[in-house]
Amino acid sequence: MSGLLVGADAVLVCDPDETTLGASAVLIEDGVIAAIGELDGMRATHSDLQVLDGAGCVLLPGWINTHTHLAMNIFRGLTDDVTLEVFLQRSVAAEVDPLTPELVATGVRAALAECLLGGTTGALDMYFFHESAAAHIAHCPASNLKLACGIAPVARMLEEGVDVACGTDGAASAGALDMLQSVRLAALLAKGQTQSPTAIPAYRAIRMATADAARALGWEAVGQIAVGMRADLQLIDLGSAATAPWHDPAARVVYSAGAYDVRHVIVDGAVVVRDRELRTIDVTAALADLQVAADQAAAVVARLAAS
Ligand SMILES: [Zn+2]
Repeated sequence: MSGLLVGADAVLVCDPDETTLGASAVLIEDGVIAAIGELDGMRATHSDLQVLDGAGCVLLPGWINTHTHLAMNIFRGLTDDVTLEVFLQRSVAAEVDPLTPELVATGVRAALAECLLGGTTGALDMYFFHESAAAHIAHCPASNLKLACGIAPVARMLEEGVDVACGTDGAASAGALDMLQSVRLAALLAKGQTQSPTAIPAYRAIRMATADAARALGWEAVGQIAVGMRADLQLIDLGSAATAPWHDPAARVVYSAGAYDVRHVIVDGAVVVRDRELRTIDVTAALADLQVAADQAAAVVARLAAS
């Protein structure tokens, strides 16, 4: 029997009950979660299988970014600390003077590297367009804060039963496609806005970027760790200098971990990031190409500014 056994010291299932399992193993077959069980028992019954070691890690669904513009990373660095008006003028350069499909592909490839290394396994790419007909509310706190364009009252919306899911927006407006940062800001902002430290607890914030995000996009097969779901998963190291000691995995993910603590990432059952190394994209080459594309984008912005 072929398959992959993924072990971890804890599992955040991301179901509505916010279940946390202790040391467990998840059996993946044909890209689908086939079984979940206690770690030692699963190792014994599946001793023939390859094991992905998640010792010291918490296993949770990969982040699902409900609103981003992948290729806008070409403009990263050209729109910092400027007014919303100037931001829009510069980023609209992409539509006035369209980038070639090759440049867009370059941006997307580097963006996918950033996403995967940070534990994001699914994203709704809005390309260069900011508005959409999406029925869900995508909360992109880093972008909203950075552009000072207002923060939605998310804690109140959740209380009223409104579906709110996390996103990053593009790297030009948010600075990074970092979903963990988005999750942390969602929790922290809610506390600050409501002046209540109990608003949007850690596990609730994680659900906004996993199960709730999947539901918002209509992706029913991902966003939770359950038998029959697609295996889009991440393992976050809770034994790092930033996250140790081991205690309350959900809170450690939200309040302590950084994207660099994402150790392994699995997409459709395939291990795409192993020990913090991306196996599917040549990151060095992708970033070198991104620099070339960014230099061309900067020239477009400079030309528009001069005209
Ligand atoms: Zn946007």
